[in-house]
Amino acid sequence: PGAGFRTGGDHMNLKELDLRHLIHNEVRFRELARKGTTVITRAEGSTIWDIDGRAYLDAQAGMVLVNVGYGRRELGAVAAAQMERLMYYHTYFQYSNEPAVRLAAKLASLAPEGLGKVFFTLGGAESVETAVKIARLYQRARGRADGHKIICLDLGYHGNSLGALSATAFEAHRAYYGPLVPGFVHIPSPDTFEGPFRADDPEAGRKYAALLEERILAEGPETVAAFLAEPILGVGGIIVPPDDYLKHVRRICDKYGVLLILDEVMTGFGRAGTMWACGQFGVVPDLMCTAKGLTSGYLPLGAVLVGDHVIEAIAEADFPFEHGFTYAGHPVSCAVAMENIAILEREGLAERAARMGERLKEALLARDNPYIAEVRGRGLMVAAELVRDRETRERFPEGNRAFRFDVEAGCLREGVITGIAPYRDTLMITPPLVITEAEIDRLVDVYDRVIRQEGDRRRKQG
Ligand code: PLP
Repeated sequence: PGAGFRTGGDHMNLKELDLRHLIHNEVRFRELARKGTTVITRAEGSTIWDIDGRAYLDAQAGMVLVNVGYGRRELGAVAAAQMERLMYYHTYFQYSNEPAVRLAAKLASLAPEGLGKVFFTLGGAESVETAVKIARLYQRARGRADGHKIICLDLGYHGNSLGALSATAFEAHRAYYGPLVPGFVHIPSPDTFEGPFRADDPEAGRKYAALLEERILAEGPETVAAFLAEPILGVGGIIVPPDDYLKHVRRICDKYGVLLILDEVMTGFGRAGTMWACGQFGVVPDLMCTAKGLTSGYLPLGAVLVGDHVIEAIAEADFPFEHGFTYAGHPVSCAVAMENIAILEREGLAERAARMGERLKEALLARDNPYIAEVRGRGLMVAAELVRDRETRERFPEGNRAFRFDVEAGCLREGVITGIAPYRDTLMITPPLVITEAEIDRLVDVYDRVIRQEGDRRRKQG
């Protein structure tokens, strides 16, 4: 019984309590009980330590969000000061609070031109849910009573709440939870490594965008509220679309009166080497979802940046905005986000991500690893495609254990926590933006060595 356990110093006790009471995210319960848990107790820069004193270089930046790095005392100080002054007031009805107002104005100043309105959430999934609801509301406000469908990408990831999950096509996440929210449809992702149109096709961007137009026409344009996509797909395997893809998408959305929602939950706040990824493709969305790097994980917070024209149309029709969350615009989270953004700007962390990302890609490519078929990415969102044969791009058969899981485990043995795409053998490298050159070099050493070892071992097994 829980009451019989002491908490505190005894770490074996803590691991047992963990297994007994804490429901972890995305696990198989029996497997977790066999493997045991890893309790993280402190962190600094890009390094985290577990309860047994083991250090890990965190090349995943938590869940791809600790952009300013771990252990920033100044963010703790800001949170404490705000808690003492005003720890909570909501943003329902006519009420608001100072940090929420200041952060909304700051985000509007950083946002692409025209996205001057901000709605706060608690994280990525809520940002996506909110953007979808605003898109539907907007279409109704401008007289499209049936404008409800959301077209999404088949390798997109938008979160695990039921609406966000409906926007996410991954079968492993969806199985057992149906029926999901109606009105979400999926089209092929602009994946030039494995998709129908490859990197050597100069028309790939236009062809992928044409799939959106076909789908809008097939569904009936008046039924489609929005196209929702990550500008660079994250969890799907850090898929960078052809340079002109989003421009074509923007044109098609405008042609049919469909809103463009970009999910910058992972790409935003410097991760992809600029404040927002959409700017790299010369595109301004109608709505933009953010979270993660907004606070670098110091407190939970998300935000939807909304085009002035969208809110104008809703206001014009005098449609009520019946939507909200108790914690939306939480003053402590907002104050911490302000300071986090100040750090990102002061230390030039977006530019640093771009520089470090180039170093990482070049160093990894220079190793000429026989099991890496492609290295790609923007900023510190870098992917390596793991294959059995890089000429033919044949993958290792998955059997009862996929190559990527052995690579992940091998890196962990070497003290590196690395991301892997859940659905194919793609390594995801997304460290804090403050990672040092020496740490990048260590990552490259570990990846190259582990991938060779695991690849050779599998080849020998036949
Ligand atoms: N959107 C994108 C692009 C994400 O990468 C994620 C999380 O990884 C989400 C949404 C969901 O965010 P959250 O887990 O904060 O709900």
